[in-house]
Amino acid sequence: MLLLMFLILHLYLQVLVTASSSSSEEDGSSERDDGEHSKGSSHQHQWGYHDQERWLSAFEHCRGKSQSPINIDTRKVFYEPRLPAIQLEGYDLTGSPALTLFNNGHTLQLSLPSSMRIVTGFDHVYVAAQLHFHWGTTADPGSEHTVDKVHFPAEIHVVHYNSKYANLIEAASKADGLAVLGGFIGIGLHENDNYEKILSALKDISKEESNTEIPGFNVRHLLPNSLEGFYRYAGSLTTPPCFQTVSWTLFNDSIRVSRRQLAALEDSLKTEHNKLLSKNFRAPQLLHGRKVLTSFRTASTTGKAREAPRLETHGSGVMKTSGAKWHILAITFGVLFAVTLLVFSMYTYRQKKKYSKFKKDSKQNVIYKPAAKDTDPTSVTVT
Ligand SMILES: [Zn+2]
Repeated sequence: MLLLMFLILHLYLQVLVTASSSSSEEDGSSERDDGEHSKGSSHQHQWGYHDQERWLSAFEHCRGKSQSPINIDTRKVFYEPRLPAIQLEGYDLTGSPALTLFNNGHTLQLSLPSSMRIVTGFDHVYVAAQLHFHWGTTADPGSEHTVDKVHFPAEIHVVHYNSKYANLIEAASKADGLAVLGGFIGIGLHENDNYEKILSALKDISKEESNTEIPGFNVRHLLPNSLEGFYRYAGSLTTPPCFQTVSWTLFNDSIRVSRRQLAALEDSLKTEHNKLLSKNFRAPQLLHGRKVLTSFRTASTTGKAREAPRLETHGSGVMKTSGAKWHILAITFGVLFAVTLLVFSMYTYRQKKKYSKFKKDSKQNVIYKPAAKDTDPTSVTVT
């Protein structure tokens, strides 16, 4: 019995140790450094997508433990109903001044006015700066994030910075500096008129470092119809210098463009030495204990609740698991259980001993009945 109790206590201790080690990984992931797609219009030739291994030696933050993109394993996400909905403001730029579309050699980028904002969804308002795309080839789909290891053909990133900072460059190096909205782009049967507003201009910027102006339009229409369902996690820029300052929101609903439109994105732009600008996506990075939250129930969260235990908002609005209360509960239950077992086993032991003594005495009474004593079995005490 004592051995059983020891085993149970050992088991509880192991659970506690596991829980605290995962908390410290989370703390590690929150030790953020400096700065995103902060390169903005500043062009960096020192890196390319063909040698992503070299990023690790050339850019220290790329070796961090909160890197992006990641694979989203839908069996391991945590449903968090308290994630605030994303609400956008000023995204309709119809009739607004023209927007600059830019081939920076790494991606196709559209500059956005500061009137575009995420007004709810985070602790602060986040101001839009630019949007850009990642894509592959027909044979090699090029979204950066993957869902259950599957790539979408392309991905859009709308980059915002925290309004408490002066601009994107300043915010990019701050822990709560950036919020990027990501949308997966798939192939549909019809032309997407909203994407055509950008894609029809690609012929004018096929050359690296060239730009053009396109009329203002409703940028909201570049994102999925529904913004309700999304994944949220703490990550980084997906390009050097890989600053770990991005609160990522990846929408569950996807965007559709026609096969012809996707081909236009894949085949129009050139990078250095007149090479095709293609496959501009970084490989998925390790989670290192980070948690991916969802604002919606997935197939795997519907049946058995996988809600995150306790959550608190942390800086950029990225939710962090708080293990403290969980620890206290585990310890309390562990101790209670152990005490109950101890009392029960002592009681059982006493009863057993009492019974065997009684039997022994009874037998003695029969065989060697003492002459001088009237034995009352109930008066027998165990010492
Ligand atoms: Zn990006």
